[in-house]
Amino acid sequence: MPPILLAVDKTYPKGLMWFRRDLRVDDNAALYQALRACRQVVCVFVFDRAILDPLPRVDRRVEFIRDSLLELDAELQALSGGLIVRHAAAVDEIPALAHELDVQAVFANRDDEPDALARDAQVLGALANAGVSFHTFKDSTVFDRDELLNKTGQPYTVFTPYKRAWLAKVDSFFLKSYPVRAHADALAPPPEAYRGAVPTLEEIGFQKSNLSELEIPTGTSGAAALFEDFFQRIDRYDAARNFPAVRGPSYLGVHLRFGTVSVRQLAEVAHQLSLQGDAGAATWLSELIWREFYFQILAHFPHVHSGGESKSFRPEYDKIQWHHGKHADQLFEAWCQGRTGYPLVDAAMLQINQSGYMHNRLRMVVASFLCKDLGLDWRRGERYFALHLNDFELASNNGGWQWASSSGCDAQPYFRIFNPVTQSERFDPEGKFIRRYLPQLAGLSNAVIHAPWTASPVELEAAGIKLGENYPKPVVDHAEAREKTLQRYGVARAKALQK
Ligand SMILES: Cc1cc2nc3c(=O)[nH]c(=O)nc-3n(C[C@H](O)[C@H](O)[C@H](O)COP(=O)(O)OP(=O)(O)OC[C@H]3O[C@@H](n4cnc5c(N)ncnc54)[C@H](O)[C@@H]3O)c2cc1C
Repeated sequence: MPPILLAVDKTYPKGLMWFRRDLRVDDNAALYQALRACRQVVCVFVFDRAILDPLPRVDRRVEFIRDSLLELDAELQALSGGLIVRHAAAVDEIPALAHELDVQAVFANRDDEPDALARDAQVLGALANAGVSFHTFKDSTVFDRDELLNKTGQPYTVFTPYKRAWLAKVDSFFLKSYPVRAHADALAPPPEAYRGAVPTLEEIGFQKSNLSELEIPTGTSGAAALFEDFFQRIDRYDAARNFPAVRGPSYLGVHLRFGTVSVRQLAEVAHQLSLQGDAGAATWLSELIWREFYFQILAHFPHVHSGGESKSFRPEYDKIQWHHGKHADQLFEAWCQGRTGYPLVDAAMLQINQSGYMHNRLRMVVASFLCKDLGLDWRRGERYFALHLNDFELASNNGGWQWASSSGCDAQPYFRIFNPVTQSERFDPEGKFIRRYLPQLAGLSNAVIHAPWTASPVELEAAGIKLGENYPKPVVDHAEAREKTLQRYGVARAKALQK
């Protein structure tokens, strides 16, 4: 289905554009539709207390949003509009604002996460009671959940046919940008009583994180700068993307998460380049398609995450008896803090802890290590990522963890178990990434840096390393852990087959 346009231009005297995970003006579907449908459009963003209140008081994502709002507000003001920013429960605030501002319709881009759907259902109800329409639009994906179904009308559960169908269907219609600026004359500044600066972090109860020290660029200008940089090397993405010490990926995840970049525009560039034979662009486009694949999995199979709880896509995997108790908790702590004694795993965990980013290859390695080396429930790792990743996306995170733990729809087979040492030798051969995050290991040779316990006492001493003191001994033996995992998964699968 093509995007649905409202039938009649200027249907409403006044509308409210509610920004959520779409913090940009250009190519914003709901903003475009609002400007077409209303004579006047007022814009609002709500720091939703339902989302913010449970978070720790330092959160890079909140700061990313706040900084991006400064730019969005400035852009809207330059177009004679502006942004009302509230710190409240969105379910109450949006209907209240709709009433106070006397609008006839509210516009927003769709968000298919379960909590967002529940919130929107509540808002829809409250608005409907007041006679106000609520229009939502597809914006964060190229294809909506029901736009790509298989021949029998069922959702795809395997990536390759999904990707094939995606590529067969995509065309300039689905990728073209919404010309928001051509209709910007309908933007209205907030009424006097609603104007004011975007609140500071302190005003919404947060403290500064290290976002600016990390130089993570925010807002649409930040996304544009990252893409410009990536565009110069997109042709090498294929070759570079697996090596965490190399600047291979785009680092656009957080921008896709908060909509400071349009996925249509990114996909259009990648699609055009791939049609011209650019293998790097084709692989990168595949990654954007993986994102949509997981979005539609979450939408069609809500059991994978509902009521705040994740369940295996394949129910038999929920029968696995994970390691639990005090020792399991200690192993989990060691994993979280980067103290497992496996350098690549530890360096990766320090990367996420210090920056909120983790390279894709490393996400696979540490996720596999958590469930297949430590024998811990993958949901513990999923929750940790949810709290720490700047680009945390429920669908992709759940999909990634289910892939690694083999419980997912199109997952790594359960008997494929990453060896954290050979992964390290293969993808960080010179130990550059390890040395960046674990400088205490810098003096080890490339031959042993991936497994310091294999170094001779002389080499350890020369490098200033005392295993168990300034770098941990391995918390598990990979070969033993592998056997236990095969048993653990085998028992669960056998039990499921008996039923
Ligand atoms: C255990 C695990 C957890 C993950 N959690 C998340 C998450 O919370 N949020 C998230 O966006 N991605 C997640 N991923 C996917 C992937 O690791 C990140 O999207 C990627 O590392 C982000 O870096 P980038 O923006 O530089 O990516 P690039 O390599 O430049 O890719 C471009 C974009 O494509 C999308 N993408 C890339 N790979 C994947 C993938 N495998 N699945 C879905 N989308 C993908 C992302 O939106 C990404 O920003 C997870 C992967 C694993 C294995």
